[in-house]
Amino acid sequence: MAKKNKKFYLSTALPYVNEFPHAGWALEIIQADVIARYHRLLAEDVFFLTGTDENSLKNVRAAEEEGMSVKKLVDRNAKKFHELKDILNLSFNDFIRTTEERHIKGAQKLWKACQKDIYKKSYRGLYCVGCEEFYKENELENGLCPEHKTRPDLVEEENYFFRLSKYQDKLKTIIESDEAKIIPQVRKNEIISFINSGLEDICISRLSERGRGWGIPVPGDPSQILWTWFDALSNYVNALGYGENSKKFQEWWQKNENKLHIVGKGILRFHGIYWIAFLLSAKLALPKIIFVHGYLTSAGQKMSKSLGNVIDPFELVKKYGCDPVRYFLLREIPPTEDGDFTYQKFEERYNADLASGLGNLVARVVTLAAELKTQKSNLKNRASKGSEGEDENEVFIAPETQNLKLKEEIKKTQQKYKKALAEFKFNEALISTWDLISFCDKYIERERPWEKSEKQLSIINNLLFALDNIAQLLQPFLPETSEKIKKQLKTKKSQPLFPRI
Ligand SMILES: [Zn+2]
Repeated sequence: MAKKNKKFYLSTALPYVNEFPHAGWALEIIQADVIARYHRLLAEDVFFLTGTDENSLKNVRAAEEEGMSVKKLVDRNAKKFHELKDILNLSFNDFIRTTEERHIKGAQKLWKACQKDIYKKSYRGLYCVGCEEFYKENELENGLCPEHKTRPDLVEEENYFFRLSKYQDKLKTIIESDEAKIIPQVRKNEIISFINSGLEDICISRLSERGRGWGIPVPGDPSQILWTWFDALSNYVNALGYGENSKKFQEWWQKNENKLHIVGKGILRFHGIYWIAFLLSAKLALPKIIFVHGYLTSAGQKMSKSLGNVIDPFELVKKYGCDPVRYFLLREIPPTEDGDFTYQKFEERYNADLASGLGNLVARVVTLAAELKTQKSNLKNRASKGSEGEDENEVFIAPETQNLKLKEEIKKTQQKYKKALAEFKFNEALISTWDLISFCDKYIERERPWEKSEKQLSIINNLLFALDNIAQLLQPFLPETSEKIKKQLKTKKSQPLFPRI
C-alpha cells in the first residue's frame, strides 16, 4: 500500500460580501496562500479553503442601498472575491459560499448537534450590524461600537441562546494548554482574560423578520434564522462534507491533527471561543492552530469607504503586477501586528528589494553565464567538430557546490526560513532570503567572475547554484518569479524581472 502523505487543512475567514475586496483581505488570503504552497512543497496533502459570508444583515442593507435583490448583490460581489484567485495567483482548493446547499445543510446539522445547549428567551440588547454581534453597555466607547464607531441598534425579541457559560472552564483549559493554539501569545492572553472575565450565554438566532427573511432558517422554527456567526463558522466543516458526514469530513477534520484557521484580530473571539464551544457541544474535533494577523492601514488610518482611502487589490496588481503586491504585503507588514500601506513605501520596497536586489542579481548572473557559455561553445566548435555528450566544462546549475562557505550560508538561510515559516513570520523568512541575495552580491564583487581566470567557471556555477536555491525559497511567496528565475537559469536568457519604477 502506498504511504499516505500527511494532511494539512487550512482556512481563511469568510469575508462579508457587502463590499468589494480591499487590500486588507488580500493580506490574509496571501498569507494563507504562502502557507498552503509551503506545505505542498513539503509533500503534504493540502486542502486550502476560502469563500464568502453571504447571509449577513449588512448584505441585506447594502442591497437595499443599491436597489437590487440581495441574491443579485451577493452573486456579483462573491464573483469579485473569487476573481482574486487569478489576480493574486492564489492556490485555494475550494471556495464555499454560505448560500450554497452544502453549507445550509451543515449549518442546520450543527445546530441540531448543539440542541441540548440551546434554549429560548426574551432579550433586549445593543446589536452592531457591522460586527453582527450584541454588545454590553460597558463594551461600547461613548455609546459606539469600538470596531465600527457606529451606534448599535436596540433590539428586543425572543431568540435562541447557546449555553456558552457551561463551557467556561473547558475553554480555559483548551486555550491555556494549547490544545487549540492561538498564535501570537498576545492574542492568546487576550482570549484567556476574556474567558476569565466570565462567559455569558450568547444569542444565536434572530427573528427572520429582522433579517428581512435572508438567512438560514432555524431547524423546526422558520420564524427564526441562524445568527450569522453560528452559520458562518460552520463553513470550516461544511466544506469538508460535514452535512452528509462524508469520508472527506472524517479524514480531514475528525481524524486530522493539522488544522489551521487564519483570521484577523477583530474576529478572534468568534474563533477562539464561540467556534470551539460549538464544536465541543456538537462533540466534534477542534482546530489545532488559530493564527491571528493584524490590520492593514492606509497611510496610517483604518481603510474605510467614507475616508476614501481603500486600497483596491485589483488596481494595485494592474499597476505593479501580482508578485510585487504579494512581496510588499508579506515583507513590509508585520504578520501579527498592524502594518501600513502607502504608495511611497510600496515603490521604495519595489525598487530596493525587487528591482535592485533580486532582479539585479539574477540579471548579472544569467548574463555572465550566457557569455561564458558562448565562449565555451566557440572554443569547443573550433577544437573538435562533432564530439558528442556533456562537456565537463559546461556552464550548468550544479546539484552541489564545492564552496563550503556558500554551502554553509545556504543551509543557514534554509534553517532560518523554515523556523520563520513554522511561526508564521513571513517577513523574517523573506529577510533571511534577502540576506542570501546580499551574500551573493558580495561574493560577485569579491570574486570578479567577469575576469577570465581558471576559477571563472566554478564561480559562475556556484552563483547559479545559489540562485537555484533562492528560487526555491521564493516559490511559496512569489510563485511566478520563482518559475521565471528557474527558466532563466536553464536557458541562460536574461530578461528583466522587475523594471525600475
Ligand atoms: Zn461593530
